[in-house]
Amino acid sequence: MEVDFGRKFIGRFAIGEDLLGTLTQFCEEKAIKLGEFAIIGAVKHAKMGYYLQNEQKYIDCVDLKKTLEITACLGNISLMNGKIFVHAHITLADHDGKCYGGHLMPGTEIFAAEYHIKELLGVELKRERDPETGLFLWKNKG
Ligand code: ZN
Repeated sequence: MEVDFGRKFIGRFAIGEDLLGTLTQFCEEKAIKLGEFAIIGAVKHAKMGYYLQNEQKYIDCVDLKKTLEITACLGNISLMNGKIFVHAHITLADHDGKCYGGHLMPGTEIFAAEYHIKELLGVELKRERDPETGLFLWKNKG
């Protein structure tokens, strides 16, 4: 699918906020129905998930109660069940440069987070449950 760029946003989220919740709320407030984003910064606490492909379910498996650098937090914005849905993956580094990564879950607490969000226009992508993977994937493959 070919898309056009729409509005672009740059800024930072506040210390102590939940990274996924704040990002989702921002997209809802701005009515960003399709988009992409990048975030760098640091967290005080990280929660990430992992998808068990054979069991077709997410497990909330990574719970790191320590300060970490956000080396990359990337993802997309689309629609699921008529609501704005943010899908984010994150890679975090500790003081030795050792990295952790996964599917961003609620409960990741911001220390500092600088975002760049780009709205995309031209198509509407809706997530629906895909029976083969068990995931809520975009109905339109492109
Ligand atoms: Zn994911």
